[in-house]
Amino acid sequence: MPTACIFCQIVAGNAPAQIFYRDDQVIAFKDIHPLTPVHLLVATTQHIASLNDTGQDTAALLGRMVAVARQLAIEQGVHQSGYRLMINTGADAGQSVFHLHLHLIGGRHMPFRFG
Ligand code: 5GP
Ligand code: ZN
Repeated sequence: MPTACIFCQIVAGNAPAQIFYRDDQVIAFKDIHPLTPVHLLVATTQHIASLNDTGQDTAALLGRMVAVARQLAIEQGVHQSGYRLMINTGADAGQSVFHLHLHLIGGRHMPFRFG
């Protein structure tokens, strides 16, 4: 566990977070700078730097992250209004925390346009 990694610190309970779900493989907590009324991060408990560091052996883990996000969307009451799952990977996507996570965002209309 890289001690410099903030999400590893959250997994270990050494950094505070509003946790909405956890099991042995996945943890979900509120984004510290929410973009939308609902903005949760679904992260792996294991340190994996990015989607580029996954492969066939992590397919089930990635599926579990999506399944957890879907369940949280229901619990957060956005499954009918709509929500978006997002995994930023690398510089062009603006990935800022290099510990695999997906964003669950919703609770308002979210246009999707590039300038
Ligand atoms: P990325 O750009 O890497 O996909 O997203 C990283 C996200 O992590 C950002 O939305 C940022 O607000 C969030 N974040 C960064 N540091 C912390 C933290 O210490 N606690 C929580 N809860 N979220 C964080
Ligand atoms: Zn980490």
